[in-house]
Amino acid sequence: MSLYDLEIADWQKLLSGQPPFRSRQIWKAIHEHALRPDQLTSLPKSLRAILASSAETASAFTLVRLTSDDRQLTEKALFQLNDRRVIETVLMHYHDRSTVCISSQAGCAMNCSFCATGQQGFFRHLTVGEIVEQVIWAIDRTRITRGEKRLSNIVFMGMGEPLANTRNVFRALERINTDIGIGARHITVSTVGIVPGIKLFTDLGPQFNLAVSLHAANNDKRTSLVPINAKYPIETLMETLQEYVQKTRRRISFEWAMMDGVNDTEQDAKELTSLCVPLEAHVNLIPLNPTLGWPSKGSGWSRVESFADTLAGAGIAVSIRDNRGTNIDAACGQLAGLVADKNLGERYSENISAKMEISALLD
Ligand code: SAH
Repeated sequence: MSLYDLEIADWQKLLSGQPPFRSRQIWKAIHEHALRPDQLTSLPKSLRAILASSAETASAFTLVRLTSDDRQLTEKALFQLNDRRVIETVLMHYHDRSTVCISSQAGCAMNCSFCATGQQGFFRHLTVGEIVEQVIWAIDRTRITRGEKRLSNIVFMGMGEPLANTRNVFRALERINTDIGIGARHITVSTVGIVPGIKLFTDLGPQFNLAVSLHAANNDKRTSLVPINAKYPIETLMETLQEYVQKTRRRISFEWAMMDGVNDTEQDAKELTSLCVPLEAHVNLIPLNPTLGWPSKGSGWSRVESFADTLAGAGIAVSIRDNRGTNIDAACGQLAGLVADKNLGERYSENISAKMEISALLD
């Protein structure tokens, strides 16, 4: 349990001796204004002291390391959770927006071969509080380093598979949207393609964005890169996305990490085109970022451009994303929380049971 794991009813219980407006007052201050308990100067000093020192209202994590690029345009925070697991959160500032990339699990069970988090294995789901507090940190950090500029966008593209942790992720989405006040259209959930999770997401209501990490447009190739494709093959995935698009009237985007000689040929672009057309999907191309456990390189610039030209020529909306944060290991797919690596032996055995647990959950 931590500060942001408390729901309003928990606050009411916790503050039972206080005037009835206290819970709402604190709720608003810690969400809308992203204040820490010791910053709640509108509270009586004695209450503030209790909140600042009690375990139930403590932070979900401590900052272990903060890495920045030279102009503080990209910053990566390594947080240690209360059970010593580590996660990473990346904050990126652009001229027109500030985006935080947050984690939804400690590690990941999806095993995508080219992804550093996948190479590390799965430990556990993050709680609602652990997810929400990453956003609070980013708001606070943006306030410190950028002054007036506000955090504007949230992407669930850090460690973990958000749609394998729907219960906590959905509640966190609601809190980020309703209580912190970030518009649903500024929040993106990225999934490897968990079909039951996409169905639940479809029925959520608010206009959150959905990104799907495709990376290959035929089953053989996709299964070799993204093993969960064996369980939710492209045909099933596309049917589910079609339903999403029809029900929500939202455009989805496909993420495509371009790997030299693996998924960057003319043939790959044509296969991808035929999946995009019926969905009117947008495509985000990003040259693969290097990770320790995967030999392929990112595609060269001219390959990326000609791939993008083929898509654009077929009327597909395509963007080329920059590799923000590669120099501080903070780019897409590079989050691994390496501080935990001292305990490799212990981590592997633990991994096996945790993975069985999550595979049961996906059935
Ligand atoms: N599990 C979710 C979100 C986390 S990964 C998902 O798969 O969508 C966020 C994005 O980074 C995904 O599109 C993922 O495929 C991509 N990615 C993973 N490893 C990468 C790498 N080495 N280089 C570039 N992108 C990578």
